[in-house]
Amino acid sequence: MTETSAAEPGDALLAGAPDRFNPDELLQRYARGRVRHFGQRQLLTGLGGITLWIVDGPLIGLLAIALALLGEAVDCLYLRGVTDRLNRGVTVERVRRISTLTGLFQALTIAGCVSLAWFGHAGALSIVYPAAFLAGAAINAGVVLPYHRSAGIARLAVYGLTVVMFIADYLARVNDAPGVQAMNVAGLLILMYLVVTFVGYALGVFDRQKHNILALADQARMLESANEDLMRRDAETRRLATALDHANDSVLVCGPDGRITWVNDGFTRTNGFTFDEAVGKLPGEFLNAPETDPATVAEISAALQDGRPFRGEILNKTKTGERIWIETNLVPVKRADGDGPPDMFVAVERDITRAKEQERELALARDAAEDGARAKSEFLATMSHEIRTPMNGVIGMADLLCDTPLDDEQRHYADTIKASSQALLKIINDVLDLSKLDAGKVELSPEPFDLRHCLEGVVRLMRPEAEKKGLTLTTDIAADLPDLVIGDDGRIRQVLVNLLGNALKFTDTGGASVSARAVPDEDSWGVVIEVSDTGVGIPAAKLDTIFDSFAQADATTTRRYGGTGLGLAISRRLVETMSGTLTVTSREGAGACFRVSVPLSRVPADMQAAPPAAALTDEDIAQLAGLDILVAEDSSVNRFLIGKFLGDLGLTLRFAHDGGQAVTMSDSQTPDIILMDMSMPVLSGIEATRQIRARPGPQPVIVALTANAFADDRAACIEAGMEAFLTKPVSREELLDCLLRSRPQVAAASEA
Ligand code: ADP
Repeated sequence: MTETSAAEPGDALLAGAPDRFNPDELLQRYARGRVRHFGQRQLLTGLGGITLWIVDGPLIGLLAIALALLGEAVDCLYLRGVTDRLNRGVTVERVRRISTLTGLFQALTIAGCVSLAWFGHAGALSIVYPAAFLAGAAINAGVVLPYHRSAGIARLAVYGLTVVMFIADYLARVNDAPGVQAMNVAGLLILMYLVVTFVGYALGVFDRQKHNILALADQARMLESANEDLMRRDAETRRLATALDHANDSVLVCGPDGRITWVNDGFTRTNGFTFDEAVGKLPGEFLNAPETDPATVAEISAALQDGRPFRGEILNKTKTGERIWIETNLVPVKRADGDGPPDMFVAVERDITRAKEQERELALARDAAEDGARAKSEFLATMSHEIRTPMNGVIGMADLLCDTPLDDEQRHYADTIKASSQALLKIINDVLDLSKLDAGKVELSPEPFDLRHCLEGVVRLMRPEAEKKGLTLTTDIAADLPDLVIGDDGRIRQVLVNLLGNALKFTDTGGASVSARAVPDEDSWGVVIEVSDTGVGIPAAKLDTIFDSFAQADATTTRRYGGTGLGLAISRRLVETMSGTLTVTSREGAGACFRVSVPLSRVPADMQAAPPAAALTDEDIAQLAGLDILVAEDSSVNRFLIGKFLGDLGLTLRFAHDGGQAVTMSDSQTPDIILMDMSMPVLSGIEATRQIRARPGPQPVIVALTANAFADDRAACIEAGMEAFLTKPVSREELLDCLLRSRPQVAAASEA
């Protein structure tokens, strides 16, 4: 009886191989085998029974058959239910033990049958028959030994003991001659030996088979996993190839010599060369244009040579001769062992012609914009200068005119000239401010100042306007508002004048109010100032746009109230430059409230506010007497004006008409102070100053007198060696104040 079932398909056999040889499975296979081969074994039982019937009579024959069947029945009935029992949870050990007992019992019944034969007539006739029977049973027991070891051993022990018993019995018999006896015993021993050898051989075959099947199963498993790996790689390769073919970028694979071995469809789409046209060529051979930068070509060659990656841009030509810009990313692919030169190079290339074009257009646009901004700035500076110079004349002359005796009508005309020219100056200043803000050229000059004083000053300034329109003007300054803060007093004043000016301008009945409160923070004072009015208000849709340059809430505004639409734009940007915010709440017809919220630094304990500029007294002015002043100015109107401003103060006043004359006169007359115009014929104010500063001897104080109002101009003046800076149109007070402030420097220079 063998248990290897050749009917099982090879794959399934291999797949389950390790399980097939575990002890539990072997036990079940043993049980199945014994049950399956039951009939086959009974052929031998039947044959033996019939033989005994013939030789020893029917009783012995039937007894032997019954005995053999009983043993088989007990064993097989138990073995039939083994799988069920195991499934029901009976332990393997228990099943093994019981089936060992049933096997033992079955072997005992066989030994009994054989003993019937041995001790009956049959045995007396021939010992070969029972011995052969026993040998058959022992072989059977030996063959199943690997499947159920204990049952096999039990059977073999029973059969072994039976043989020993037979030999002893045979030797005790006296009816055989000693020679015959010796031969028969030797024959029995040889049979035993053969049985043992056969069983040993069968066991060896079983072991070898087991080993081979397990080894085969291992190999099959390895083969299967290698196959799966292969299939996965194959799928991956196909996926990659599809992805590369559909990629927009060109992909080139080159061999170690740099020649193309593969290109994707993207390559053909980019430059028109097909796979067949490209393969085998060096990319440079057919892609480089005559204008391609030789340095880039050399760089790529060097990278190929050294097996280095390369990334860069290169000009290529397409199949139709069109020039395209390519960004290439070349990567060497090293051999698997990582040594030696690369196996191949992979280049991924992208057409960046459009991007390059856009980059170029952008650069041109940027240059143009910068040129435009520069031109605008220059234009504004020039305009400012050109307008300020005559304005200087208009305002100065109007001032002088107002100081002369005039009748009412004349005074009205003169006042109108003054007011109109002041308004014009405001517009010029606004336009200039805006362009400075645009150019980021507004610099704040934070200094300690008295906030309360600043607010009151603005209200005081606007009160006549309110009174003129019959409007109320109230202030509500919180008691906890700090007196001294650090900020740009002038710019805050400018914002408030604009807001309050608007409030009064756009209000016909009721009035305006200014309120201020502090929002103390860790080390800065947040100040919230609100300017509200009971005027026309602003439609909701315009609340955002009124802060845009040249924007007015209503087109009729200009006609009715005048204005340029610049004030709020400038105010908001000034406040933002101070890191603050300017917002508005308003309803049409229900007034408006503008809120300025600015952080202002706290004043350190040891710092004092700059004293407010006090009005000049006669004594102050008298101190100017005796000064020697040279006015370098090409405009006769301005020379006339300054002459008028300074004429009766007891100082020496001389005039130069251009820069060259200013230098000569400075040399020959050594004035104390030179009022130096900036743009003059022969030498500019800056150049003249440089020349004067370059000469030995006593140096005058030089004050720039200029219509150029930009911070750059101020910096240029200081850099050329000037001490002070006055912007046209300059008022008499400003001029006198500046001269007074320059006096100590004059004194210091003369002592030196
Ligand atoms: P301007 O006053 O020179 O027109 P602004 O920038 O100061 O320019 O103001 C822009 C617009 O905002 C004004 O034309 C006006 O329509 C609106 N506006 C400003 N302040 C007020 C206010 N207090 N009440 C009503 N409308 C205002």
